[in-house]
Amino acid sequence: MVQIYDRVALIGLGLIAGSMALAMRRDGLAGEITGYARSAQTRKTAADIGLVDRVCDSAAEAVKDADLVVLCVPVGAMESVAREIAPHLKTGATLSDVGSVKRAVIDAVGPFVPEGVHFIPAHPLAGTEKSGPTSGFAELFEKRWCLIVPVEGTDVAATQRLRDLWVGMGAKVDEMEADRHDLVLAVTSHAPHLIAYTMVGVADDLSRVTDTEVVNYSAAGFRDFTRIAASDPTMWRDIFLNNKDAMLEILGRFSEELFALQRAIRADDGDHLFDYFSRTQAIRRGIIKADQDTDAADLGRVKK
Ligand code: NAP
Repeated sequence: MVQIYDRVALIGLGLIAGSMALAMRRDGLAGEITGYARSAQTRKTAADIGLVDRVCDSAAEAVKDADLVVLCVPVGAMESVAREIAPHLKTGATLSDVGSVKRAVIDAVGPFVPEGVHFIPAHPLAGTEKSGPTSGFAELFEKRWCLIVPVEGTDVAATQRLRDLWVGMGAKVDEMEADRHDLVLAVTSHAPHLIAYTMVGVADDLSRVTDTEVVNYSAAGFRDFTRIAASDPTMWRDIFLNNKDAMLEILGRFSEELFALQRAIRADDGDHLFDYFSRTQAIRRGIIKADQDTDAADLGRVKK
């Protein structure tokens, strides 16, 4: 594949940055990749495994002369990183991010973007519950959507170049307005994570009563919740706090539906439950049809 950027700087060296680095290197999409993470331990690990071409001791050093800078830090850290790197960005460079919330990131980063730098927020809808510099893999973005969220005056050519990079890494690219993005993601990702955290928390309370039964006899539903609820606490704290309005809107609706189902169970209203579950089954079929998940029954539970 053709090289799209001469120099790419990744700020934050965790799951997403690591996967980007591996995908870019696999396909020769970037000339040189530099990287920086907050802790010396993460920088050392990234250097030891050769995740990027050059691990730098500061974010300022990493972004120097970069044609593309991607902020891959938790949403709550975007502002301080943007403030730190802003004076060191090259004129004509593109500044992007992969944050799971878009309005808050645009508000936090936007004011620091220097004249002549193209700020193009993005969000790859791909991830796992793992984090850190050794968790990335080149195939993470394969067939997954990356949403580009243009801001006012976004440069068309710079946007196309960023789109090409994501397509090169295997993603499908679409554009979406920031508030719409935050509402859609609250439904498809953020609220489900909060519900998983809650369910595992309930089981944790219960396990004090039932000892280890909750763990030993954990059935598929609970196991799936525990996988989601193992996701990084910093990342998810920041997502909930920075997508507050959409989260509260969706959680309000969720509570209403939950009460309706609770009432149906109490009233032995099997028709209500059956109709409801038939609707949700159709949504799952839609996701499989759109090639966004596998229909395989074992989903990795069967040891190969
Ligand atoms: P991660 O594996 O936890 O990595 C985060 C990285 O950011 C770490 O290298 C961390 O360094 C670094 N960092 C934190 N604060 C920093 C700061 N102030 N300055 C410099 N580096 C800092 O997280 P991730 O899963 O890659 O997520 C990164 C971003 O992608 C987040 O905004 C998240 O919302 C978004 N995202 C995540 C997923 C997902 O499923 N994981 C999917 C799509 C988008 P240390 O190790 O030194 O602390």
